[in-house]
Amino acid sequence: MVERAAGRSAKTGGDEPVVGKADKVGRAGSAKALFGKKTIALVYDFDGTLSPKPMQEYTFLPKIGADAKAFWAEANALARAHGADSLITYMHLMYKKAKAKGVRIDREDLVNLGRDVELFAGVEEWFDAIGEYVKIRAESNGVTLRHYLVSSGLTEIIEGTRIYPRFHNVFASEYWFDVYDLPYPKRVITDTGKTQYLFRINKGVEDLGESINDHMPEGKRPIPFANMIYFGDGDTDVPSMAVMRKNGGHAIAVHPPGKARAKCVALFKAGRCDFFAPADYRRGSDLFKRTCLLLDRMLADIRVQEEVWRVGRGVR
Ligand SMILES: [Mg+2]
Repeated sequence: MVERAAGRSAKTGGDEPVVGKADKVGRAGSAKALFGKKTIALVYDFDGTLSPKPMQEYTFLPKIGADAKAFWAEANALARAHGADSLITYMHLMYKKAKAKGVRIDREDLVNLGRDVELFAGVEEWFDAIGEYVKIRAESNGVTLRHYLVSSGLTEIIEGTRIYPRFHNVFASEYWFDVYDLPYPKRVITDTGKTQYLFRINKGVEDLGESINDHMPEGKRPIPFANMIYFGDGDTDVPSMAVMRKNGGHAIAVHPPGKARAKCVALFKAGRCDFFAPADYRRGSDLFKRTCLLLDRMLADIRVQEEVWRVGRGVR
């Protein structure tokens, strides 16, 4: 399975607490029209944001006996020397090294490796806790909360993590496994490439077979940027944060708890993020509280816009 978990659909993901029943009424074709922009999307980077280290360091690299620091240095040096894309280079180098060591790692093996990926404190409980918060605070019926992952890491490893079922959709790099020699990159999500997926969420065009470039007026976009928060941890998130903020959306930067926060401070000072906080996802943490503040603002905006929409319908 490529873009979505088995049984997952962009429209019927069982991962999203729906507050009230307005959506169902609308889909059933009732004559009563409903205000449609009540979906909130929380979008996460993975490495450094939900997990302390790049996912390959918990999984693939130990399996082939590679030292993480040396591996990344070699991949980056190769990319620089050949003017190659750094992500394609690392994806290629991993399997080249595995082959040289005589280690075969199939898709299923990669998924299994995902179980060893470490998550920051509270990540596993976060989805329910934030869902509960939205449910309590949403005074408007029909508010839906979704979580998305947009990562340069590997879809296959992410699929093996415990939190994979929590996401409405996961956009990440991925391999073809049926090529004759080495697995070959099927999709590579670069820092700037990540922004395409923000627009896919915004426009409701999550099927990667559909073009994202067709014009869609703001009014027709199901998840306005104002209903989105992007969570990231560093330079690789700058394009995504910039797209969010310039389009009226929100961004929060995180840093490892108890460690340097200089990168976050720089992002904050440059206006890339609304807030920054240690990557502690437990209820009551600064990250939790600041996310809830943004959610409160979004929920208030949704109520205001719904009322404006209702008034507008009355004066047509
Ligand atoms: Mg990151």
